[in-house]
Amino acid sequence: MLLQEKRLLNAQATYDDSLCWFRRDLRLDDHAALYHALEQSRRVHCIFLFDSEILDPLARSDKRVAFLWQCVRALSEKLQESGGALQILHGRAPVEIPRFAHGIGAQAVFCNRDYDPAAIERDAAVALELKEKGIAFHDFKDQVIFERNEILAKTGRPYTVFTAYKNAWLAKLEKSPPPIYLTGKHLSSLAPCAPSPVPSLESLGFESSQPDFPAGMSGAEALFSDFLERMENYHALRDFPAAEGTSRLSPHLRFGTLSTRRMAFAAHHRKGPGAQAFLSELVWRDFYQMILYHHPQLAAGRAYKPEFEHLAFENDPAKFNAWREGKTGYPLVDAAMRQLDLTGYMHNRLRMVTASFLVKDLHVDWRWGERHFADKLLDFDFASNNGGWQWVASTGSDSQPWFRIFNPVTQSRRFDPKGAFIRRHLPELSACPDKWIHAPWLMPEEARSKIDYPEPIVDHAIARRKTLEIYKLNDEISASP
Ligand SMILES: Cc1cc2nc3c(=O)[nH]c(=O)nc-3n(C[C@H](O)[C@H](O)[C@H](O)COP(=O)(O)OP(=O)(O)OC[C@H]3O[C@@H](n4cnc5c(N)ncnc54)[C@H](O)[C@@H]3O)c2cc1C
Repeated sequence: MLLQEKRLLNAQATYDDSLCWFRRDLRLDDHAALYHALEQSRRVHCIFLFDSEILDPLARSDKRVAFLWQCVRALSEKLQESGGALQILHGRAPVEIPRFAHGIGAQAVFCNRDYDPAAIERDAAVALELKEKGIAFHDFKDQVIFERNEILAKTGRPYTVFTAYKNAWLAKLEKSPPPIYLTGKHLSSLAPCAPSPVPSLESLGFESSQPDFPAGMSGAEALFSDFLERMENYHALRDFPAAEGTSRLSPHLRFGTLSTRRMAFAAHHRKGPGAQAFLSELVWRDFYQMILYHHPQLAAGRAYKPEFEHLAFENDPAKFNAWREGKTGYPLVDAAMRQLDLTGYMHNRLRMVTASFLVKDLHVDWRWGERHFADKLLDFDFASNNGGWQWVASTGSDSQPWFRIFNPVTQSRRFDPKGAFIRRHLPELSACPDKWIHAPWLMPEEARSKIDYPEPIVDHAIARRKTLEIYKLNDEISASP
């Protein structure tokens, strides 16, 4: 536990009124900021801000906003059942949060930390405004297990290699696990005021839509209890997109409708190979948050490895559009891109395959793909998205070597052997025999003419050679004095 957190827990001073500002932590149980606010205050007022600086640049039909809206509504209902209320604000955080806090006479604002450089800047601006009004600002670790400088190499510097980080992370989890915050015992300190109505999506400027994904705390609980039954097979099934192999909990981790600690402890206590593999994925999540915290330049579009900053990508807009629309002629890539467009979700194996295809087959800058995923993914999280893209593009920390290039057909044969996932998302290939489902251009002419599916946009073997040239040339240039 950090010193600031310990000091607060032990402090005698109690606030009469405080605010708990919910952000990417839309739940009541095991919630660090809420727990501390309840412990330290006579009355805790709960708020959620529809942040115009985040929402204004988004497309008007963004699936995430619909998902977020459902989560906020569920939080509001849960708070009412628990004797409290959610007040909902809309606008810029450095203006609205201090104004509201001052308006209700709060002496402190409690929230959970966010490691995105823009969020760090926003919180610093809010804290400053609050300070000018004589209101305290307390933030806590909540969305990750270990943060910032909690896991450092022996040199005192942040880790750059995942396996070493993971070993240190697991050792620390064993030795000093983070606490579970039992908020339930203190809910009587929730301020019993009238809740704000949740503004409609239309009034926030967005198209009304129903997310195609179980939302809110109850959606998270349902997915989590289903996954607990399957966790022991996670290691064996996690790479097969047609199987029920992974948890699909990423949007809930993103919006904090489920506690990361609960998930990590559930895996840690089970020990088997499935649980260990799952815990390892949660470590990747912390790893990328730690990398972003120590390298805020990533948020400005920088490559983690500066020597790969200026790769000579082709950036052909026609190829990029074919990729976005799922019309590259490579069935696994296209099925994955259609899944993303339709549902806002994409399986991890397919994120690797599609990202690799964009960068190393179509020679489009990874930042273009990163931006597209950022616009589409329900679970979009800057740190994990940037980490994933830079891993694939070989520009990131502990990323795959540049000469490793996924073959989209081999990946398809290996991870979707019967083409079940492909057929689910590409109805035009539903009648295609298993033999050709991974590479329909190999079908005899007569059968092929009956299928309305594009020819491959590039020849993988040629594209691969070109990628090797691009990266090799870059290596030579950066090695030259
Ligand atoms: C190019 C690319 C972009 C990605 N963008 C995102 C993103 O924006 N948001 C996001 O949450 N994940 C991202 N990932 C990581 C991963 O693909 C998703 O977390 C995972 O597919 C979510 O599905 P799940 O919940 O079923 O995962 P599970 O396999 O059930 O894993 C459990 C949890 O562990 C975390 N996790 C799993 N794999 C990773 C990983 N490689 N890196 C970081 N965390 C991981 C997630 O929080 C996930 O929910 C990206 C990966 C790649 C290759």
